[in-house]
Amino acid sequence: MNEIKHFINGEFVGSGSGKTFPNVNPATGKQIGIVHEAGMDEVDRAVKAARAALKGPWGRLSVAERMALLHKVADGINARFDEFLEAECLDTGKPKSLASHVDIPRGAANFKIFADLMKNVPTESFMLDTPDGQGALNYGVRKPKGVIAVVSPWNLPLLLMTWKVGPALACGNTVVVKPSEETPRTTTLLGEVMNDAGIPPGVYNVVHGFGPDSAGAFLTTHPDVDGITFTGETRTGAAIVKASADEIRHVSFELGGKNPALVFADCDMDKAVEGTLRSAFANCGQVCLGTERVYVERPIFDEFLRRLKAGAEQMQLGAWDDACTSMGPLISREHLDKVLSYYKRAVEEGATVVTGGGTPDMPGELAGGSWVQPTIWTGLSEEARVVKEEIFGPCCHVQPFDSEDEAIRMANDTKYGLAAAVWTENLGRAHRVADQLEAGIIWVNSWFLRDLRTAFGGMKHSGIGREGGVHSLEFYTEIKNVCIKL
Ligand code: NAD
Repeated sequence: MNEIKHFINGEFVGSGSGKTFPNVNPATGKQIGIVHEAGMDEVDRAVKAARAALKGPWGRLSVAERMALLHKVADGINARFDEFLEAECLDTGKPKSLASHVDIPRGAANFKIFADLMKNVPTESFMLDTPDGQGALNYGVRKPKGVIAVVSPWNLPLLLMTWKVGPALACGNTVVVKPSEETPRTTTLLGEVMNDAGIPPGVYNVVHGFGPDSAGAFLTTHPDVDGITFTGETRTGAAIVKASADEIRHVSFELGGKNPALVFADCDMDKAVEGTLRSAFANCGQVCLGTERVYVERPIFDEFLRRLKAGAEQMQLGAWDDACTSMGPLISREHLDKVLSYYKRAVEEGATVVTGGGTPDMPGELAGGSWVQPTIWTGLSEEARVVKEEIFGPCCHVQPFDSEDEAIRMANDTKYGLAAAVWTENLGRAHRVADQLEAGIIWVNSWFLRDLRTAFGGMKHSGIGREGGVHSLEFYTEIKNVCIKL
C-alpha cells in the first residue's frame, strides 16, 4: 500500500485538493508511501455518510444481526493477520514479537468482546408509588449516541482505534476515524475488512491528516458530530475541548500519564524486575500505561537496580521482522528529539545515568531510523521535570523509599492519574496501597494484564470517563427513560 486514501461511504477516495503527506518508516527514516490529507470537504462528506448510515440499513438491523457482522469483522482481521501485522510494523517499527501478541489480536478481540457484551446488557426499571395508588413504571432504553468522531494516537494504532470503534458500532453508532498522521495503514486496511464483512457503507469512515487546521480539528469541530472519543496527549485533549465547546458534545478522553511502580522489599524480586522492565521498555516506552517512575524500598534498592540495569542492557534493538528484536525505534525524528531533550535535561537536573542516555549505532539502513537507548536514571529530585513530565520513551527514574506512606505520597504527587503497579507479596499491603493510589488502573504483581470487561481510564489529567465493558455504554449510548402511568 503506497498510496493511502480516505475511506468514505465504503469507498477509498483521494483528497479533492490533491494534498498529500509522506508515510515514513521510523526504523529507517525512509518514505514508504504517501497519505492523502483530508480537507474540510472530505471530513464533511465522511460525517454526512455516517449520518446517512445511521438512518439507513445499519440503524434498522436487529442487535443479533449487528453482532454477527462485528464477529465477521474480527474474523476478517484474523484472516488477514499477516497483512495487518506488516502494516502496523512498517508504520511504527515495533517488533513483530510484540504486534503479533498484542496489537493485532487485541484489534480483532475488541470487536468480539463488545459484540458479545452488548447482547446481554440489562437496563434499569423502577416502580414509582403515585397518590392514586396505581403507580407508574419507569424503564430505561439505551439508544446509540449517533455519529462518533474517533481521534486516535500512533503508539498502539489498531488496538486503541478498535477499542473505540468496537463498542461504538456494537452500540449501533456510526464512526468517522482520524488516525494519527504517523500511523495511517491499519485503520485504512480495516476499511477493506468492513466492506468484505458486509458492514453497510458509511458506518465506518476514515479521514487522514494532522490535528490543528487539518482533519483532526475539522472533525472534532464539525457541527454534526454527536460525541468525540480521543486518545492522545493531555494538552491535545484540552485543545479539542476548547475548540468544540460551543457544540456542547460528550467527550471521552484517554490522556497522558506519568505512572509509578512501587516495589516493596517483600516482593517477588524476579517478577518485579521482569514486570518493571516490560512496563518501562515495552513498545520502546511508548505505552500510556508504562512506568516512568520506579519507587523501590531501600533494603532491596541496590539489588533491584542492578537487575533492572542488566535487563535493560539485554534489550535487542533491531528490525521488526527479526525474531530476536525486543525493541523497535521511537515513532519519528520529532519524537526522538523530544525524548533526547529529556535525556539531556536529566543530566542537567543532576541525574546519575545508570544505563543508556543516548542513541545506539544501528547497522545498514536502520542507521537512518529514530533509535534511542533504553535508559535508567537515579538521583533526581522529585521536583525535577524529568520526574514530573511524561516523556513517552524507554526510560525511567528509580528512587528509594523508606516507608509505605512515603512511597504513596511520592507516587500520588503528580497531575496525572492513569495507572500504577504495586509489587508486594503482602496481601494486606496490596489492598491498602491500591486503595490509596490516585490512579484509574492499579496492577498488583502484574502490568498490562487486561480484562476487557473492566473499567479503563484515568483520574486527574489522565482522562475523562471510563471505557471497557459496560462502562463504554455510558459514552456510546444515550439512556432514555420511559415513564408509564398505570
Ligand atoms: P497527540 O495528542 O499528539 O495526537 C493524538 C491524535 O490527535 C492524533 O490523531 C493527532 O493528529 C490528533 N490531534 C492533534 N491535535 C489535534 C487537534 N488540535 N484537534 C484534533 N485532533 C488533534 O498524541 P500522540 O502523540 O499521537 O500519542 C501519545 C500520547 O497519547 C501520550 O501522551 C500518551 O500518554 C497518550 N495515550 C494515552 C492513552 C490512554 O489510554 N490514556 C493511550 C495511548 C496514548
